Amino acid sequence: MNCQVLIREISAYLDGELGVETLAEIEVHLERCKDCRLIVDTTRKTIEIYSSSQPLPLPNDVRERLHQALVKRLGRRPAT
Ligand SMILES: [Zn+2]
Repeated sequence: MNCQVLIREISAYLDGELGVETLAEIEVHLERCKDCRLIVDTTRKTIEIYSSSQPLPLPNDVRERLHQALVKRLGRRPAT
């Protein structure tokens, strides 16, 4: 489990759709990785805001922005 995998699985994680193995890997990663804890926390709050205001799943653009933020944090900028 690394940060990019976690970000890819984040909506399934928050929706409770992951198998126990993946779930355990994510929990372990979150204990060690402050950045991902922050991202999970932010995403969860975003979902709560969206689901209380309108019936939408996690919007793709939110996920994309989170991913970009993480890539930047890791110092791996996308090719331009
Ligand atoms: Zn991480």
